[in-house]
Amino acid sequence: MTTIRATCPTCGEVGLTPDEIELRVDDADSTGSYYAFSCPSCFETVRKTADERIVRLLISGGVEALAGRPATPAPRLLSQRFDGPSITHDDLLDFHAMLERDDWFAALASSATED
Ligand SMILES: [Zn+2]
Repeated sequence: MTTIRATCPTCGEVGLTPDEIELRVDDADSTGSYYAFSCPSCFETVRKTADERIVRLLISGGVEALAGRPATPAPRLLSQRFDGPSITHDDLLDFHAMLERDDWFAALASSATED
């Protein structure tokens, strides 16, 4: 089996088999393509952007190219902005009142909108 050389920021060059590498190719935006692997030495998950050359290289090495973005979205970051009204004092009071209820979690969960 082909050994693919990749670089872990901690351990340096490591050897991987094609099935240890997850390659995501974003057709709409080539800067959104990346590959990820678990470092066999330190077990850190390493994720790097993959330009067209790297994508071709990985595919020629036997890595399966998965289309699009992963099924599970990346966790939202605090720096991300959301559209929608700002939270008000009334919202906060409503939330406080909700927490007084025994079934606050169920109430909260049912009021949450699906993304
Ligand atoms: Zn490592």
